Amino acid sequence: MSLIESPTAVSPLHRHISLRAEGKTFPSVIEMVKTLRPEEPLHCVRPGVISSAASAFCTAFNGDVLYAVKCNPEPAVLRAVWDGGVRHFDCASISEVQLVRRLFPGAEIHFMHPVKARSAIREAWMHHNVRDFVLDSESELTKILQELGKPEAAKLGTKPGLFIRLALPETGAAINLSKKFGAEPEAAIALLRAARPLAAKLGLAFHVGSQCLDPLAWRDAMQLAGEVIRASGVQIDVLDIGGGFPVAYPDMNPPPLGDFMSEIDAAYDALQMPGLKLWAEPGRALVGGGASVVVQVQMRRDNMLYINDGVYGALADAGALRFRFPSRLLRASASQGAPDAAFGFFGPSCDSLDVMNGPFLLPDDVAEGDWIEIGQLGAYGTCLRTAFNGFDRAALVEVSDRAMLETPGYEPSES
Ligand SMILES: *Cc1c(COP(=O)(O)O)cnc(C)c1O
Repeated sequence: MSLIESPTAVSPLHRHISLRAEGKTFPSVIEMVKTLRPEEPLHCVRPGVISSAASAFCTAFNGDVLYAVKCNPEPAVLRAVWDGGVRHFDCASISEVQLVRRLFPGAEIHFMHPVKARSAIREAWMHHNVRDFVLDSESELTKILQELGKPEAAKLGTKPGLFIRLALPETGAAINLSKKFGAEPEAAIALLRAARPLAAKLGLAFHVGSQCLDPLAWRDAMQLAGEVIRASGVQIDVLDIGGGFPVAYPDMNPPPLGDFMSEIDAAYDALQMPGLKLWAEPGRALVGGGASVVVQVQMRRDNMLYINDGVYGALADAGALRFRFPSRLLRASASQGAPDAAFGFFGPSCDSLDVMNGPFLLPDDVAEGDWIEIGQLGAYGTCLRTAFNGFDRAALVEVSDRAMLETPGYEPSES
């Protein structure tokens, strides 16, 4: 199946190009360009790459793997994650919960946002069989208990799983996630004690930050978690070591997956807490290599290319965060072999902030009308699109070739 057909994604891609590609999986991006000659940005999902990465992670990690849905909620992507063996989903909004429940009636869904709407807590608990909730404050604990204590909700007669999100000191991650969420150790200790008698399952969770290249960040965080657990004096059932596992970008070369897992295994042994279960919530690592966007050049001015997608489309992280993504020219006829040069991109909107400095390496003779594949956009690309300035006509196809960059440890096994 090649296109989004069934349930709407949280932010569904349009289908207008898809009609011409119905039922088709293209063997490669270049074949797709020859067939469709897309004049709108086209998202190319590689389900095989995503399934392999998910399967590699599930095999390497000694615990339950929760896919962080926010990273890419496209149904084609979720199905590929499922096909790779993932059965748990980390959701942060009621729309994500509804989407996952619709696609996978048997999935285990966990509500891992520390600040939730009351209605979302109720609906998840009552209608979608969600039992686990994360929190990082006393007021959120009170909110959850009030909602689950209402007569309708209390009828279920079960206690929730409660997870305390621990703030971490700054790590080497590209994107810090402890400034906004997480209880400091003293507060986390108090919350663990308060939650224990109320919880069917008690957990401690953290996130080292997204695109964290240093395996030692997990060791340090797990050590801190161990200190917090011991100081609380209560029994903990689950340690959730979050996401943050990196993928390869042109200027970022992560150590192999195995290096992260050895640190995690060693840190787990050092905790000496037999019976403690481990969970992880990878997002980027499972899907980052699994999608590209194919854009078309609308004008060239010196070494700046005006393209039909930008920071209000799939390329948000190439703007303010200055991520570099791999790029390649897709020409139906053989190139003249022009040497590579460094280019920047302007997106299609009228906003002067819609600029991506890269640099993106492309043959020096790139010109108006050419197609360019921009890779490694499976994570935080597709899902950050907006309709700003009317540029919302992207579509999705599936392709079966390899990722533009391999992340060590996640490569598909040769078959
Ligand atoms: C975003 C997020 C993740 C996924 O992070 P990645 O860096 O994509 O692996 C996992 N857990 C929580 C709570 C998150 O907010």
